[in-house]
Amino acid sequence: MKKTILSLIVLVMACLGTAFAQKPDSLLVVPPELEEEHDEADSTLMLVRPIDTVDTDDRYVKIILFNDHTWDYIELERPDIDTTGLFEDWDIESIHAYRDVKISDLPASVDLLLVDSAHHFVAPIIGRRSSTFKYRKGRPHNGIDIPLRVGDTIRSPFDGVVRYVGGGKATGGYGNLVVIRHPNGLETYYGHLSERLVVENDLVAAGDPIGLGGSTGRSTGPHLHFETRYMGKPFDPERVINFDNGTLRDTLLTIKNHYFNVGSHYGMTDKQSKGATAAQYYKVKKGDTLGKIAKQHHTTVNALCKLNGITPKKVLRIGQRLRVR
Ligand SMILES: [Zn+2]
Repeated sequence: MKKTILSLIVLVMACLGTAFAQKPDSLLVVPPELEEEHDEADSTLMLVRPIDTVDTDDRYVKIILFNDHTWDYIELERPDIDTTGLFEDWDIESIHAYRDVKISDLPASVDLLLVDSAHHFVAPIIGRRSSTFKYRKGRPHNGIDIPLRVGDTIRSPFDGVVRYVGGGKATGGYGNLVVIRHPNGLETYYGHLSERLVVENDLVAAGDPIGLGGSTGRSTGPHLHFETRYMGKPFDPERVINFDNGTLRDTLLTIKNHYFNVGSHYGMTDKQSKGATAAQYYKVKKGDTLGKIAKQHHTTVNALCKLNGITPKKVLRIGQRLRVR
């Protein structure tokens, strides 16, 4: 899309250039006897040329400035987004939408078409993930982490509309965060950004820059925290994108109800995924130790550590959820 917009600007500029170049023709008629003295540099000064473009509040409308101090609006091609149903549960104030929807309310399986001949895919960023969708230190890690350099461009993978943009205290661990809703209902989250390049309700096309990579929020180094959610429920982003080579797994994404669990990963069989979803959790109370919790749940400290990605020396927090099965 970026390429399309750029080439459109170039095309419009070229057309304007030609149009204006023809207008002052009469001024450029030089008597033959003077032709040799005519300075070529002078003649180009007389042409009206676009010299700059300026952004407006609407990212698809730009102002073109000309070298004769005049200006004009130019409207860029807007992404062709089917917004039917896209604005259901639309909430630009909260990080998460669909807060009243429970996983049990969702169908057993839903098919989302990700791309077609008119709507393509661009990898948000390509890189080796440093953390996957899983329980990490006893907390659910609802996305995947891709290390990057501060300032790396993050792009929207599909066409969509920006639902939420925030930072600071409002987003907590996410740091600077952008959430995009795509026409098929999928939402994508981009955390720890150094810069946010879009605002709420912006239309974005696949490949449009939406932010720059950073390390804001709860982050130990520059990386992108990327989430995929359907009806507000996170599932493993690797079910959608192969980040190793920046390609889509498939043009059609089938989301099964048992995917909405941090224990369920891309590559698992349905049986394994359902088993992970049947997991049971225990909320840590005052005075609990790993040994005590293990005994209560007829398991071992080692098994608890493995399930929760912690070590036996882990200090438990009151209220922390531990997976026990
Ligand atoms: Zn993360």
